[in-house]
Amino acid sequence: MLTLSTPLIELHHHGLPRIGKKTSESLAVEIAAITAQANPYKSTVEDLLHYLPMRYEDRSNLARIADLQDGVMASVEVKVRVGGIVPLKGGRLKMYEFIATDGEGQVRAFWWNQVFLNRVFTRGSRVVLYGQWKWNRYKNFFEVENPEYEPLADEDDDELDVIHTARRVPVYRKLGDFRTRQLRSIFHHVLTNLPETFAESLPADVVERNALLGRDAALRNAHFPADDAPVDDYNQMKSAAHRRLIFEELFWLTFAIGLRRLERVKEPKGELIEITDRVREAVRRILPFTPTNAQKRAIKEIVADMTGDEPMNRLLQGDVGSGKTIVAVQAMVISVENGYQAALMAPTEILAEQHARNFKKWLVETRYRVELLLGSTKAREKREIQEALKSGEIDIVVGTHALIQEAVEFHKLGLAVIDEQHRFGVMQRAAIRQLGQNPDVLVVTATPIPRSLAMTVYGDLEVSIIDELPPGRTPVKTFVRGDDRREKIYEFIRQQLQAGRQAYVVYPIIEESEKLDLRNATEMYEHLRRDVFTEFQVGLLHGKMKSAEKEEVMKAFSANETQILVATTVIEVGVDVPNASVMLIEHAERFGLSQLHQLRGRVGRGAAESYCILLAQFSKTKEAKERLKIMEETTDGFKIAEKDLEIRGPGEVMGTRQSGLPEFRVANIVRDQKILEVAKREANYLLTERANTAETAKLIQHVRSQPRFGLANVG
Ligand code: ADP
Ligand code: MG
Repeated sequence: MLTLSTPLIELHHHGLPRIGKKTSESLAVEIAAITAQANPYKSTVEDLLHYLPMRYEDRSNLARIADLQDGVMASVEVKVRVGGIVPLKGGRLKMYEFIATDGEGQVRAFWWNQVFLNRVFTRGSRVVLYGQWKWNRYKNFFEVENPEYEPLADEDDDELDVIHTARRVPVYRKLGDFRTRQLRSIFHHVLTNLPETFAESLPADVVERNALLGRDAALRNAHFPADDAPVDDYNQMKSAAHRRLIFEELFWLTFAIGLRRLERVKEPKGELIEITDRVREAVRRILPFTPTNAQKRAIKEIVADMTGDEPMNRLLQGDVGSGKTIVAVQAMVISVENGYQAALMAPTEILAEQHARNFKKWLVETRYRVELLLGSTKAREKREIQEALKSGEIDIVVGTHALIQEAVEFHKLGLAVIDEQHRFGVMQRAAIRQLGQNPDVLVVTATPIPRSLAMTVYGDLEVSIIDELPPGRTPVKTFVRGDDRREKIYEFIRQQLQAGRQAYVVYPIIEESEKLDLRNATEMYEHLRRDVFTEFQVGLLHGKMKSAEKEEVMKAFSANETQILVATTVIEVGVDVPNASVMLIEHAERFGLSQLHQLRGRVGRGAAESYCILLAQFSKTKEAKERLKIMEETTDGFKIAEKDLEIRGPGEVMGTRQSGLPEFRVANIVRDQKILEVAKREANYLLTERANTAETAKLIQHVRSQPRFGLANVG
């Protein structure tokens, strides 16, 4: 019997029309790919049913030919009179056409490159056509090009199973080689052959409390809306069927995250952290400036966690340039003053180097030993650092992935700070936790994250937000410009440099054409240096350079020995040179908004008026222009992140695959924030108030069995 758990690979055993072995296999493979399921043998009918239509068309009104009007979309039932393949001279296109009638009027339908239709229709065939009807004023009849068609059985057969026309029909995005028509018929046959009711997957009281549609009705309607269903609601994914499916998806997700949070190691820390007057004084002494109120609030929250007896798991987020680093350093000082070691892990070597440099400067009075450990650190030095970490001689270590990759041992790690986390995954968060015995973990994000996303990606963390910029900043002025303004822009940069400021020129590197892009950046550097800014020093920075070289280049720019830095996006996160006042971004249309915001955040760090110029090739799309305009309109990173999320979706924005967030099948966490909140409330209620019930146990078991929630291996 066909059920929801039937493997797709066996679909052809169920006698569905036109679903053979090859079709079953292709379906299994395609569905496995979109559900990130490694094994196609495991994709099921249930997974298939979650491949929802991208939109719906109302083809329900059967029109008479006499009622047609030029340009309308309509379904018409006709009888074929004469048809055939039309030879077209020269071209490779072939056309099939027929003339048909509904007894009153006459129409012509034609299709390109579908000559097999010559065998589908014969004289007298009955068919429903759906498409846009155009009046042919030379021939005096209506025509339709490439219409949807539905051959009907004989006149006396009244059990017509109309799938493609004369109803509200689903339209699917192409799935591998499967086009919408074939998918529609597969879904139709699968759904009509499944048992009438499916077992409910959500707890009965949750379904009831939230007035959710049953699982069977939801899945059936989502593919084939009822005859009286409001098509608009369906198209906006607002139908009861959609709401139910979205709810379910978000329920499982928030349930899994809640579970992860509950199950995290809760062994007490070894020795508790204390804030004595001495510690307080040490923290105060290192501060190079008066913290903002938001910074004060954040450190207070961090201290409360650190002095508690469970390990801290906190996310520190704030807009670019809001001063997150110093807050992290304060926490590190507290840790060291309590006899612990502290580690900071950064996503790039450049950033790790910059942090190490700053820390040494800020902490010079404390006499702490601060070291830098990178993948590229020389073997001997590395060994020495590793030994000093093990013996406890090093108080603070700053590094990259190398910290977890090279099995570094600590004497007593009390605090791990993960800077600009979105480059790291959940797995790494778990790995860094294992470097010590339940150290406090502080995750610092590069990009402000919309609340909805924070709730999901970082749902197992407490959140502190720095929502205030240090005083004296003037918002960066942003301009979107086309290539025709290049000369003027150079002139403007020259004026800024003459006034003692510095500038970045950034090139995108996208993976496929990395070599080419790198060449562009290098050529541009040569060009700017030789032909344009001859009176200034120009530096070049890209990811393929050796670490020592990179450091040289950064140092020279920091010290204003070079005034222009041509760079690829390696400078995207964290780089801090307050004297830089211009950010010129080439091919801005290739960047995501959050990334542009990050880049823009490299200027406007000092008191000087700063500028961000987005140079874009607009030939591509109007959307690119619209999108970039948002950058002119706001400097609020949270707003930009929301927009980015709307436009590109969470996968793109966060690199969700790496961050451990499963791909969504139906839900969209921007659109569905309200449902997300309700689903989360339900999930938490079951996990806490109803923790010891058989029902919750069953739910836990279900979530554990789903590899996509990563509960088996992430603590
Ligand atoms: P981000 O939050 O983007 O990591 P940083 O920590 O790099 O920002 O801080 C941005 C700049 O602001 C740095 O130059 C830093 O020294 C400075 N800064 C941070 N906090 C303050 C403050 N309270 N007053 C003045 N300058 C500050
Ligand atoms: Mg930073």
